[in-house]
Amino acid sequence: MQMPDSSYDFCAPSRIVFGWGRRVEAGRLARSLGRRAFIVCGSRTLEQNGRLDEILQTFEEAGVDAVCTPTCTREPLVDDVDRLVTLLREARAGTGDLLVGIGGGSAIDLAKAAAALITQESRASVVEYLEGVGSGLKIETMPLPVLALPTTGGTGSEATRNAVISSFDPPFKISLRSELMVPRIVLVDPELSVSVPPNVTAWTGMDAITQLLESYVTPRATSATQDLAWSGLGLAVPNLVEAFNNLSSRPAREALAQAALLSGMALANSGLGMAHGVAAALGVHCSVPHGLACAVMLPTAVRINRHHSGVEAKLARAGWAMLHPQVATLDPSEVPRERDELREYDGLATVDRVDRVLWRIETLLVELNIPRRLSKIGVLREQIPAIVRDSRGNSMSGNPRALTDDELTHILEEMW
Ligand SMILES: [Zn+2]
Repeated sequence: MQMPDSSYDFCAPSRIVFGWGRRVEAGRLARSLGRRAFIVCGSRTLEQNGRLDEILQTFEEAGVDAVCTPTCTREPLVDDVDRLVTLLREARAGTGDLLVGIGGGSAIDLAKAAAALITQESRASVVEYLEGVGSGLKIETMPLPVLALPTTGGTGSEATRNAVISSFDPPFKISLRSELMVPRIVLVDPELSVSVPPNVTAWTGMDAITQLLESYVTPRATSATQDLAWSGLGLAVPNLVEAFNNLSSRPAREALAQAALLSGMALANSGLGMAHGVAAALGVHCSVPHGLACAVMLPTAVRINRHHSGVEAKLARAGWAMLHPQVATLDPSEVPRERDELREYDGLATVDRVDRVLWRIETLLVELNIPRRLSKIGVLREQIPAIVRDSRGNSMSGNPRALTDDELTHILEEMW
């Protein structure tokens, strides 16, 4: 039997509101957090198709003043955060105000970062708070509350305690991190994700799957994060191709939105692994979108880690969720936890099941039109040393197998 942990910490949003069409409740939820809301939107599509106006209308009806900040469609840069904090300072943002992040991980991360910085005593740039590059300033004062409305069904940023901030000069992609940064309320309306185009649906969905699998096998996982990740895999894997082929499929969009949320809660409390470590460097040096970078790295990450102590058994258990779409509806008491039980279910030995997991991931990439080689996503061979150097963030430190620079170089050259 898998035993519960005797000791762990777990951080999550105070309130999660999930459901098709529930964006109509945005204003009422915002009102429970404040009277003036600074809106950080990351999608021009939501502006153009009227969804943003619909949401703003609910703010007006609830008596919340909505202040729209400039739309930011890219993964947030240091300047984007500093500029938004300056805007908040000029508007004298403080008690009674909140931030609303509407969009993918980029918009929600930007809202979380600005909400955290505006309440700190120091007026320093966000750079000074970033792990490893700044002067070590910490988020000590409670941030302004954040209401997160995720729209891409992938990143899970609505449930995490970090915001990923990038810079091109000097090149880095690093998290601003504090347990105080978890959004206060998360409103997941999967209907908002039907306007996401096929390629972004594929990439963000693969981001969620990578997050679920990496948080499942990392040595930092707890039984709570593994249960979340396991359920998420059972939802995401069978539904991603359906959402990709049929963008407006309600069941597929609902399943992906739920899987993304679970991935955020899992990773916020367990960390990730090498796919995310390398993905950060691929974003900085080669401008590869985050989810695409994760997708390309995932098969290699599974292959590199599978023979490390204990990982194969974990992958086999995760595989049971991934390979059996009906798993999410099973009575939890029916779910096998041990290798012997797994074998009874379908006659597969652990090693064969992990082979199937790899096969399923590889076929997913084919079905989603995602390339397999680094050279196909804009990586130049001469960039590999810089990618290796800048892969060493918090995510890589959670990878089951520790990799030397030489090993990682060899892995990436093989993938090129
Ligand atoms: Zn990710």
